[in-house]
Amino acid sequence: MKKKLKILFTSSEVHPFAKTGGLADVCSFLPLALKRLGHEVRVVMPKYKSISKSFQPVRVDLKVPVGDKIKKAFLFRSRLQNKVPIYFIENNSYFGRPQLYGNQHGDFPDNAERFIFFSRAILEFCESTGFCPDIIHCNDWQTGLVPLYLKTHYQDNPFFSSTRSVFSIHNLGYQGNFLKENLALANIPDKLFTPDGVEFYGRFSFLKAGLLFADILTTVSPSYCREIQTKENGFLMDGVLRLRSKDLHGVLNGVDETEWNPKNDSLIPSRYSAQDLSGKQKCRKELIQRFALDSHSNQPIVCMITRLSQQKGIELIAGGLNEILNKGINLIILGSGEQRLEDHFRKMNAKFPGQFAAHIGFDEKLAHQILAGSDLFLMPSLYEPCGLTQMYALKYGTVPLVRSVGGLRDSIKKYNAKNSQGTGFKFSQNTLKDLLLELARALSVYKNKSSWKSLMINGMETNNSWDNAAKKYLRLYLKALQ
Ligand code: ADP
Repeated sequence: MKKKLKILFTSSEVHPFAKTGGLADVCSFLPLALKRLGHEVRVVMPKYKSISKSFQPVRVDLKVPVGDKIKKAFLFRSRLQNKVPIYFIENNSYFGRPQLYGNQHGDFPDNAERFIFFSRAILEFCESTGFCPDIIHCNDWQTGLVPLYLKTHYQDNPFFSSTRSVFSIHNLGYQGNFLKENLALANIPDKLFTPDGVEFYGRFSFLKAGLLFADILTTVSPSYCREIQTKENGFLMDGVLRLRSKDLHGVLNGVDETEWNPKNDSLIPSRYSAQDLSGKQKCRKELIQRFALDSHSNQPIVCMITRLSQQKGIELIAGGLNEILNKGINLIILGSGEQRLEDHFRKMNAKFPGQFAAHIGFDEKLAHQILAGSDLFLMPSLYEPCGLTQMYALKYGTVPLVRSVGGLRDSIKKYNAKNSQGTGFKFSQNTLKDLLLELARALSVYKNKSSWKSLMINGMETNNSWDNAAKKYLRLYLKALQ
């Protein structure tokens, strides 16, 4: 008989409440897909300042040990897409700030304490509300201490005797490595601060805690799963990952078609589908107007929607902008992130008016509009755990041109002109030369309208549903419970 599982999803960001990247999308859409498969799912996240005050308060106050103090937390409740209960943990001294992790001066100096508090609060939440999960699914370093607590402080607590943990790596580049002094705040004994434990080159690593103590580890694509176990791409964590290689699995993320589907997207000027692409032309026209582009129909609009960080291959674009634009394209960038890159692209707006447009900021609605109105989507990442935006691009008939790494390698099939198979363009080396060669290839296919249309349709008809991914996670949950 199929067992109905109780699953608690924990994350520092969940769409649509707080988002800095793909993590938020996964931690919203995967719980929804698990619920569709018939399981009982709840989500827990911090209550940041930006999160509505009008949510229903839950009449349970949590008492959370942090060092030798007891900190209070209050609970609020809402639902994801009206379906999955989501709980917000409120403690304004930790989370009552407009940003999630830091401000213009850098990371918040108390990030270790904030997420020690959050991790313990998650376990206290379970007990206080009587929700006894079969699986606690933790995501990234912010929740890395939860698996450790389950195997130490809560090990003899009968409430958690059949609870198992799954820890997902969304980006190994972010590890939550802090000063050793934070061990005391986490109430973790010094004996765990060893190279076999949570010590990582002299620091206390929250990510490593998750990697060592979770029952099952996952990451967000099969290729990234292999890459992070190598010295070149392991961010010094490859040894730990190889040690746990038997328990580490790559599951490709999906696309939530209630929110990312041009057929029913209320954020774009005109809806369209693979059967009727006329609405995409309208979206394109509006985009040309919005960014005052001098566009000709034989000249594709290329877009990027991205964090402005080195990981995303932005240096290649910043350094090679002249050569890229010389190919006769329009380029729109929607991005936010590193100050120097934001400043650089703002300057380029003035240098290439009509051909290049950078919108600096994080704007969900604009992301949908740019994706719908563009022809090509560019993602030249140095490394990419999964990447969601290229999968959204497929759905919107905006052909991806990506560097063949991690999830980009797994989610995009190289176009083959001979049999019209494939969904996009891929290049291997992190060089401007390779990028330009692939761009030239894309432009020659773009000239042939019927080839381009079949390429668009191949992408639009690709099935990257979350339901497939959720089934794979379920198998892993059952493995954790064996
Ligand atoms: P990462 O998580 O590494 O940032 P992903 O491609 O997995 O990259 O996910 C990025 C998510 O954030 C996508 O939903 C994308 O649309 C969104 N996004 C990135 N930058 C912006 C921005 N400037 N404005 C709006 N949405 C953005």
